[in-house]
Amino acid sequence: MQYAEVIVFLSAGDVDKTFTYIVPEGMTLSPGDMVVVPFGPRTLEGFVIKLKNEAGYDEDKLKPILKKRDSSHSIYPEMIDLAYWMQKRYNCYFADAFRLMIPSEMRQQRTKEKTIRIVSLAMPYEDARALIKRNATKQIEVINALKDGAKPTAYLNEIIPGANSAINALHEKGIIEITEDRVLRAPHVDDNGRAHEDPELMPEQKAAADELVHALDHGGGRFLLHGVTGSGKTEVYIRLIREILKREKGAIVLVPEIALTPQMVGWFHARFGKSAAVIHSRLSAGERYDEWERIRTGEARVVIGARSAVFAPVQNLGAVIIDEEHEGAYTSEKRPRYDAREVAWKRCEMTKGVLLLGSATPSIPTYMRVMPGVRPENRLKLLELTSRVMGRRLPECEIVDMRREFEMGNKGIFSGKLVLEMKKCMENGKQAILFINRRGHSTFVSCRSCGHVEKCSECDVSMTYHQSDGNMHCHYCGKTLAPPKTCPECKSKFIKFFGAGTQKVEEEARALFPNIPIGRMDVDTTQGKDGHAKILDAFRKGETKILVGTQMIAKGLDFPNVTLVGVIAADTTLNLPDFRSAERTFQLLTQVAGRAGRSDSPGRVVIQTYTPEHYALECAVRQDYRAFYHTEAAYRKHALYPPYTVISRLVVSSKDQAKPPEIAQSLQERINIELTKNDWHSDVLAVQAAPAPIKMLRGEYRWQVYVKMLTRGRVDQITAMMDEIAEAGAEGARIELEVDPASMI
Ligand code: ADP
Ligand code: ZN
Ligand code: ZN
Repeated sequence: MQYAEVIVFLSAGDVDKTFTYIVPEGMTLSPGDMVVVPFGPRTLEGFVIKLKNEAGYDEDKLKPILKKRDSSHSIYPEMIDLAYWMQKRYNCYFADAFRLMIPSEMRQQRTKEKTIRIVSLAMPYEDARALIKRNATKQIEVINALKDGAKPTAYLNEIIPGANSAINALHEKGIIEITEDRVLRAPHVDDNGRAHEDPELMPEQKAAADELVHALDHGGGRFLLHGVTGSGKTEVYIRLIREILKREKGAIVLVPEIALTPQMVGWFHARFGKSAAVIHSRLSAGERYDEWERIRTGEARVVIGARSAVFAPVQNLGAVIIDEEHEGAYTSEKRPRYDAREVAWKRCEMTKGVLLLGSATPSIPTYMRVMPGVRPENRLKLLELTSRVMGRRLPECEIVDMRREFEMGNKGIFSGKLVLEMKKCMENGKQAILFINRRGHSTFVSCRSCGHVEKCSECDVSMTYHQSDGNMHCHYCGKTLAPPKTCPECKSKFIKFFGAGTQKVEEEARALFPNIPIGRMDVDTTQGKDGHAKILDAFRKGETKILVGTQMIAKGLDFPNVTLVGVIAADTTLNLPDFRSAERTFQLLTQVAGRAGRSDSPGRVVIQTYTPEHYALECAVRQDYRAFYHTEAAYRKHALYPPYTVISRLVVSSKDQAKPPEIAQSLQERINIELTKNDWHSDVLAVQAAPAPIKMLRGEYRWQVYVKMLTRGRVDQITAMMDEIAEAGAEGARIELEVDPASMI
């Protein structure tokens, strides 16, 4: 007798373990197979974790497995190990981890596979012919058509009108066989007319690729590819993948957000054709199912996708490549709160593959791993691309002090310098990008006489004025209101719409260049299905000459004709209440500056700011990542911020204003009690209950309990303890745990 240990798809503490079932006679199972089992009064699906010959349990109580799902529902056994690791690392349920490894469409049998029916003769032609009456002409035509081989029903119906009834009659008599064949829906492929050949690599690219391939053949390795913007990191990825495919292995490429990286996807389609599978949230359930299946069967061996593609069922994983590794999108905010970079690290370790993180502006914790003194198990090897391809130069950057401009009487959005550069750029027939780090017409609406700022009644944030509808919008809850005509505080009529948003920039640019077509890309203009692609296409084709946009245009875009980038106000990200604000600013400026001068004409960048002396700006202008890293790392170390510490917090929200402070205080006490009980105080620097930075959100009042821990301390245990406290809940409020939150609001 054989027994199987099964984990069922239920996320609850008391069932988060294996249950033993009898393997029925004649059923062959392997670890990783999906099965249907009886579970109390219901039936549930789950994965086989282990097979054994001893029940190790009272056999009379065991029930048999009801059914084995076909192999398209299986996961590779190594994924079981990964789920075990995730359960420990992220303190989540197995079921939560497994959920990521198989699309929900597959688990719930919701998706019908798309099939075609294929008809073939069930016997030699002569025998079949003998069985058919002479006047059944349609049937004769059908078997004649099948004489030289099987045909799809659709084809038969095309050549023989009304073939269906004949096919049915023949099938009933057993003369023909009908089989179903699966067709995999490959999603629409758009390579944007890109070159299909690999270019010859530049020396630095080649050196990097050689080192990666060497690691591929020698037990794997972990690398950071730090390449300035336009240095051709993608070609290094592609070269590594070529070698991986030659070795009959597979690769996963992660990008922060598929919708924002149409170019990358285009490149991969052009180079790898059908060997590349793309996974993103806009695929239909059916397409997603099929892409997953193309990957699992090895038809597609290169996977490109956002965060969750790190779980794709790639066989013989040769590498995981994470582009723009510094992006916050790689950590999940939902349970399980995993970091795709860590999961990739683990997967590569298990398959002896190559982990490759790529960025022009690596995150501080990542770059720390290439520094001397890091323990070997934490180390990343640094590969550098220090210059742009084809001898192109990095753009020349320049800072404009907007306080000076104001003193000189310029009340507009654009500095004299930026206007001058825009004129030159347009006269030369080139294109320009104007970057603004916010959306809407103005950031906030305020009273010039008393300083009152219009805030959302549901959220503790200021409202944003949108010219398109003449209303104020809350960007957190969507509330919309007409702006007041007089100040609600002092009744003054001097209500001013402060600052500048994308619409305002577009408007002023139009006023300056009435004959130049201008495009705008922000959350408001990209609502439709292909909103992003349309705006970018128009710009790529030169139908628009100036593109005004938010963060969306800062990253990864490669427009050869862009020679000018203007940053309207560099300070907006700098002033966010977050210890990462300098890093964010540096990254954004470097990335957006990197859009200029990507072909033969040199690029220029004009950065407008009110704080020209800040180190994030100075380093960005010099494009000196190392200088920024050292200054920033020293600041974090001094101020005890991550990565020198780990910050977790519990966020308490409630409609009842009295609840959050009360509950937060009691949570703080409970955390302190646990710390004392376990003797963990030495690992913790601070436990503090306080109002959250945004005190009210969507009509709920918010407090936080903030815990700052030493990196080398018992972070996992303390976080698990906080998680338990959060799970236990509190009456009249929601409690959420955030570990190392990407932004604190
Ligand atoms: P990065 O991601 O480092 O900013 P990209 O990968 O976008 O840079 O490459 C910048 C541009 O250089 C792209 O247009 C790319 O096609 C081109 N390129 C990259 N490598 C080469 C090469 N070896 N020869 C010619 N062109 C290249
Ligand atoms: Zn007022
Ligand atoms: Zn709101």
